[in-house]
Formats: sequence, C-alpha cells, structure tokens
Amino acid sequence: MITATQAAAITTGTWDPNGPTLAVYDPATDELVGVVPQMSATEVLQSIEASIVAQQQWRETTGLERSKVLQRFGELMRDQEDRLAKLLTHEQGKPLSEALGEIRYAASFLEWSAGEARRIYGETIPAPRANQRILVLKQPIGVTAAITPWNFPSAMITRKLGPALAAGCSMIVKPAELTPLSAIALLELAEMAGLPSGVFTVVTGVPETVGNAIMTHPAVRMMSFTGSTAVGKMLIEKAAHHVMRLGLELGGHAPFIVFDDADLDQAVKAAVACKFRNAGQTCICANRFLVQRSIVEQFTERLAGEVDRLRVGHGLAEGTHIGPLINDRAVEKVTLHIEDALNHGAELVTGGTVLSPDNLTSRFMAPTILSGVTPNMRIFREETFGPVAPITAFDHETEAISLANASDYGLAAYFFTQNASRLMRVAEQLEYGIIGANDGAPSTAEAPFGGMKQSGLGREGGHHAMDEYLEVKYVSWRI
Ligand code: ADP
Repeated sequence: MITATQAAAITTGTWDPNGPTLAVYDPATDELVGVVPQMSATEVLQSIEASIVAQQQWRETTGLERSKVLQRFGELMRDQEDRLAKLLTHEQGKPLSEALGEIRYAASFLEWSAGEARRIYGETIPAPRANQRILVLKQPIGVTAAITPWNFPSAMITRKLGPALAAGCSMIVKPAELTPLSAIALLELAEMAGLPSGVFTVVTGVPETVGNAIMTHPAVRMMSFTGSTAVGKMLIEKAAHHVMRLGLELGGHAPFIVFDDADLDQAVKAAVACKFRNAGQTCICANRFLVQRSIVEQFTERLAGEVDRLRVGHGLAEGTHIGPLINDRAVEKVTLHIEDALNHGAELVTGGTVLSPDNLTSRFMAPTILSGVTPNMRIFREETFGPVAPITAFDHETEAISLANASDYGLAAYFFTQNASRLMRVAEQLEYGIIGANDGAPSTAEAPFGGMKQSGLGREGGHHAMDEYLEVKYVSWRI
C-alpha cells in the first residue's frame, strides 16, 4: 500500500523505489515527470485487504465526523492548489489556468460530499398491518473501487471519492497510468485531513493486472468507472462474476445546436469554451455543431474569428489556451477524423494541421473548424477527443432533434435559443443526461452528472451520487 509519506516522496521525485516502476512523461516535452510503483496482483490484494479493515471502522463513524474530514480535505486541496495544478499540467498537458480550475472543481466535490455525509436520511413507511412498522435504513455498501481516466486526473477521483467517503465506504482508486501522480498527491492530503489509513488507497500499475485484481475480489462491492465505452463494457462482464454494483461514465458525442433565434454572442462564446477546453479531450465536449442554415455562415465566421485567437503551447507557458493531446494515438485519431471528413466533402475553415510549437513534441493540434459535415463522416458518429469543431447545417427544429439523437451516446447536449417554448420543448426531447440550455459549461458538484444509452449507468454529483454508495435495507418490525 502506498503510504502518505511515500506519496510525498513520489510526487516530489525523491522516492527511492525497490521494485518495478511505471514512468510518467510530460506529453508536451516527453520529459520524465516521475515514477510510480508498478504493483503486482499480490500488492493490489494487500491494498484491498487494508481497505476491508479500514472500512469496518470508517462505517462506524458519525456523519458529522466524516463531514469534518471531507471539509478539511477540500480546504487542503485549495490551500495547495498551485502545487497540485502544476503537477497536473506536467503529467496531463492542460493549460495551468485550466488545471487550477480542475483542482478547485475537484475540491468542490469533497466539500459538497461533506454536507451530504450529514444528510443520509432513512424513512418510515406506513405499514399495511396495525402491529407492523417499516423502517428504511441506508448503510454504506462497503469497500468500493474507482478506475479513473487521464483527462481529469484529479476531479474524476474526488467526484467518486467524496460521496464514497461520505457514505462510510472505503475506496481503492486505480488512476490512469498516464496521470497517476495527481492521484497519489491526494493521499498525502487525505492523511493530513485526518482520514484513517486504508480508507482511501491508490493502486498503480498495468491496467489489466490491477483491474483484474479489483474486479475479481468478492469484498469489492461497487466499482465506479470513468473512461471509454469499450473498457466499460468489459468491466460490465467482469462485474457479473460477483454481481458487483457499477457506476459507469463512458463516452459521449455531444450535439451543440444553434437555432436562428439564439443569442449568437452567447452561442459562440459557449462553443469555444465547450469545444476547446482541455484541447477537446472531455467526454462532454461538443462533437457535432448543428447550426440552422440561415445563420450557419455567420456562426462559422464568428467562431473562426475566436478560434484563430487561441494560442497553442506548453500548458505552463503564459497565455496558452490549448496544450498537447495526451499521446500519439490521440493525434492519429484526430488526424484521421479530419482526413475522413475532408475526403467525404467537408471543407476546412481553419486549422487542420499537427504542430510542434517552440520545439515541443508533435502532439499539438491546431484548433480546427470543418464545415459541410454530414452524418456519413466518422467525426459525426465517433468521439474525436480533440480540438475540432465539425459544423452541419439543418433547416427545421425536428431535423435538429433527430440529428442530435442519432447517436449511440447520450451524455451531454447543448442548444441555444431565446424562445422559451422551444427551450423546454427541445430540452425534453433530447436523449441526453446533461442538457446545456444556453449553457456551454453545465458541470457542477450540485448536479447529477451522467449519461443515457451507451454513455453509462448511474449519476455522480448532487444528492443522487450518494445512492450509488449506499445500500437500502428495510426493517419490518412487529410490535
Ligand atoms: P482511454 O482510451 O481514453 O485512455 P480507457 O477506457 O482506456 O480510456 O481508460 C480509462 C481507465 O481505464 C484508465 O484508468 C485505464 O488504465 C483503465 N483501463 C484500461 N484498460 C483496462 C482494463 N483492461 N482493466 C482495467 N482498467 C483498464
């Protein structure tokens, strides 16, 4: 098990490993950022054993006690936001301002959960028999685990860890192998906040080895995963073995609809934020811009004006808006989507090239706009995960909705209109779990984040998140 002292050494590069390690590189420079343990299945098992023991005590604490630890944990993240953000930018690549935003967003899940820890209410239900009483209890599900992605190395952990700890569960976190340092940095803060050892553990190593050790252990009662739909489907199969509860936040393919009655300033501003944040590597990023034909030229021109102002560079360089993509595979996929669209008749409005600014690696994509995109192109169906805005024109509201819903995914959808009746009508018809109505940045700790269709199962955030980590038990009491 990685201790808090070891965690401090790992994140500051002073750790002296005595076993196999995994290296973490800066995607912008290929410089070594740090090394983390490459745990064997036996070592993962030891962490699970520690988690089982720790959960037995943690579940006995009061909601108030857990609340205080979570509140302090969140405060410590905020106190150390500069250090945490720099580490995040180094291992993930996003601009420092965005990394700072992520650390604050991550802390907000701990703070929100601190409140929820005190509000795990049961129920009494009127019984059908005169001598019967029915009490509903909510209890922690037990030992839980999380497998998290590299695009939000800090926030995707606290979004799961916060409600798990608030509910009285322990949690074993397997961070993405590309960005484990931000996860390990949290271990130190958890101990400083007063979290007993073993309640939160981090396991690092080869994904299959670590994942299998977790998924096959009967004591792990719940797994919360954020990542690709392909890995999510594989985890569903593995979970069947012990009927493990799953929370899945998988891929997305968000439509971004602009009606001709939209406030265009608002729509263009939101489009830039929604599409180009984290170089387009977020699961709720717009992946299809559907724009009413009468305003499509105007919208495209204005969006291009804003996009041409975005600066590409190292995330730690002053004024950078767009950092590198996470790895070469990501660059290949984005390039493929652009080429496929152009081969099928789309037009390049701006961008389209791979860059290596300031002699950095060749993992930087120029922010790109494509017009004349049609449903037969890959970019219209597959998640791009890059800074590319594909624009498709539509004529009528019904056409926009059917184009928007023509996806296997159902995570986030955005639309812009100043017509109140249309706003409600469209919001109700979109088959997506998160709707940004005149809003390009809907995520917040207070709201239930999650998707429909192949975008996942369950919700994170809001009071809804607590249910994922609680068992419902009823007591039928004869008097
Ligand atoms: P991406 O393709 O965007 O990297 P993944 O779904 O592969 O997304 O990764 C999300 C998380 O799933 C990461 O923590 C990764 O290590 C983990 N993962 C990938 N493959 C497996 C596996 N076979 N078993 C368990 N976890 C896995």
